[in-house]
Amino acid sequence: MSTDSRLPGIDGASNISGPPIDGPIGQALWARADAVLPGRAMFMTRSARYAGPGVQPGFIDEAQGCRVRDADGRWYLDLNCGNGPNLLGYRHPEVEAAARRQAEQGDLMPYFPSAMVDFCERLLRWGPGFDWALPVKAGSDATALAMRIVRAARNRDKLVLFRQAYHGNNAEQSLRHERHPAAALDNLYRLDWNDPAGLDAFPAEAADQVAAIMLNPIDQPSGVPASEASADFVAAVHRFRARTGTLVILDDVRSGFRLHPQGSHRAMGLDPDLLCLGKALGNGHAVGALLGKEPLRAAASSILYTSTYIYSAVCFRAAIATLDVYERDDAFAVIQRAAERLRAGVLAAAGRHGLDLRFTGPATHPNVLFVEDPGCARGERFAYEAARRGLLFHPRLAWFVSAAHDDAAIDEAIAIADAALAASA
Ligand code: PMP
Repeated sequence: MSTDSRLPGIDGASNISGPPIDGPIGQALWARADAVLPGRAMFMTRSARYAGPGVQPGFIDEAQGCRVRDADGRWYLDLNCGNGPNLLGYRHPEVEAAARRQAEQGDLMPYFPSAMVDFCERLLRWGPGFDWALPVKAGSDATALAMRIVRAARNRDKLVLFRQAYHGNNAEQSLRHERHPAAALDNLYRLDWNDPAGLDAFPAEAADQVAAIMLNPIDQPSGVPASEASADFVAAVHRFRARTGTLVILDDVRSGFRLHPQGSHRAMGLDPDLLCLGKALGNGHAVGALLGKEPLRAAASSILYTSTYIYSAVCFRAAIATLDVYERDDAFAVIQRAAERLRAGVLAAAGRHGLDLRFTGPATHPNVLFVEDPGCARGERFAYEAARRGLLFHPRLAWFVSAAHDDAAIDEAIAIADAALAASA
């Protein structure tokens, strides 16, 4: 039994008035995709259909810097950034050169590549305060591994998560959609975000069974306003840990590298025991990591966790180069500045058209939504009118800014958004 079988966008009526963004090649690809892929809920947010029928191009075949080309050959300025991974610019030359050099020597080979040690050392230099690192392939792997390590460390089964937080693709980490076995959810408490009183009031007998609290830096469900962790809330997380011996896991998969240059906990004032990374870490290469502190090394060592491609070397070299370029170029400051320019420009355009558009969450990866917009219908029209004019962003998911969005690109995005707002007003 599913709690909600309808999916926004995917099951909604079309909110656009005009031809779909896909040209004939994209439309033919959808027909082929529907024959071979069980689509719809599968891949949900990663499918262009989640933006609403016809709102975004379905298939992207090339990317460079801050621009992408769809299957029909049309180029767009992109504010989707692959939902986060594009941190420095698609196919950043130094990242790709490092990956290519390793690819020429070998990618998946027997036993560890030396690149794996270099990767872990580089991560620990990037994120001071952690003592060990584990490589993974995806954000979901990092969060799943963190959940296993805290349970082993504390010999407790329960976890505290927050109401609408997505942490990955297994039943415990995900938001409930399809049927999950009760046992997969029995060990989770889902509390309200930014509610220090809720954490303080958590009964002591139950709190003593909690292995860890896992939280995101921002509460950022799709299609609703995002909200950053308040200082009071962070203090309550620390109090909960002090009174119960519970561990704290920060899921920095989405916000990582865009909220603070050394990990989002530094922007939040949080002191996590474990830090989960993914998405932007490899600038588009499939790599993530779990960083931990000394007291959890023994628990981490007790977990049987392996996977054939965890040890592939190319993504490690890509991640090392990503961190090198990110720090050398102060990419965080570059992204922050570009993001603020974008926000100011788009909000000014919305104001000129008398539209109540809001940026919620951090400028570098905001949820951009109309204030009164049931079903995100106006948001879909705005995204559609922008795509027609050559700018991609998602009506429900966060926009993302990269270091490749220079002033000219941001000004172009603002001009297109301006025209799209006028057309969708
Ligand atoms: N945590 C958060 C906060 C995420 O946004 C995501 C992905 N959207 C994940 C974990 C899972 O990462 P991945 O999709 O790489 O498995």
